[in-house]
Amino acid sequence: MHTVFSDGSVWPTVRVDEAWREGLDAISITDHIEYQPHKNDVPTNHNRPYHIAFSRAREKNLLLIKGTEITRETPPGHFNAIFLQDANSLDTEDLFDVMKTAQKQNAFVFWNHPGWKPEHKGWFDTHTTLYENKWMHGIEVVNGSSYYPEAHEWCLEKNLTMMGNTDIHQPSTLLETSPDNHRSMTLVFARERSIDAVKEALVEGRTTVWFKDQLIGRKKYLDAIFKESVEIGKPYNKYRDTIWVEIENNSDIDIDLERAGTQGPGKLTLAANATTILTTGIGAKADEAPAQIELSYIARNFLIAPDKGLPVTLTISLK
Ligand SMILES: [Zn+2]
Repeated sequence: MHTVFSDGSVWPTVRVDEAWREGLDAISITDHIEYQPHKNDVPTNHNRPYHIAFSRAREKNLLLIKGTEITRETPPGHFNAIFLQDANSLDTEDLFDVMKTAQKQNAFVFWNHPGWKPEHKGWFDTHTTLYENKWMHGIEVVNGSSYYPEAHEWCLEKNLTMMGNTDIHQPSTLLETSPDNHRSMTLVFARERSIDAVKEALVEGRTTVWFKDQLIGRKKYLDAIFKESVEIGKPYNKYRDTIWVEIENNSDIDIDLERAGTQGPGKLTLAANATTILTTGIGAKADEAPAQIELSYIARNFLIAPDKGLPVTLTISLK
């Protein structure tokens, strides 16, 4: 996210207030090092946005991570370095020197908005160098309102961490908000609520991106989220070979199911924080039916790869 210290239009403390109001746990202000359109009004000191926001973040119980945006022509494009000690030391001409400095500070570095300039998008030799030297640890699969399927693929192939961020420049009140169109964010599976734990989780790739009405991530995390969110009751009504079952979805996201097997309705939406009624034939009279039936579905908005939803099973016990 940006502030007046680069090309944003808010003061750093405003980012903290916005994040608190919108329920975030951790943020990083990542102003551009090399692009400062307000430098005649706001002096160049790449550590200042963090310092200015620091005590406000403490007051709001928000984890504030020191970061900056390394800004190069595309290709290779822009990179965020976070968990820095000193952002000023990254103000160096040679990109590889910058990356070495970031590595010395044990930063976590990710490639930003890789599809930003469609005419130049792609994986270039510089990215290979960054990747092979372990100077680049993740990629933005989502930036603002854009999703990059290629980046999703690269993260899967190369075991890079999937990130989703706002890259916000304006005040967040100017962003459109609706249940399907909230600010893009990274869900980080950290062992505890601390900056060290967030860093450990990012380094190990334990993330999922929440983008519009979709979750984008590795199968194991989406699988776990699905299993923890969905609770299937016992049939509360039976008539001939048909049963009625309540399914609870305790998550904040509607789950969009499409049948992959032969039983159950063709489409089923499990509404967020609500109970959905499933009615299905079981192919036998209820008292002659097996102990349980398994309905195969694809959770279409849980993306485990581009255009590929998560396979799930709804297990209903009949006895
Ligand atoms: Zn950028």
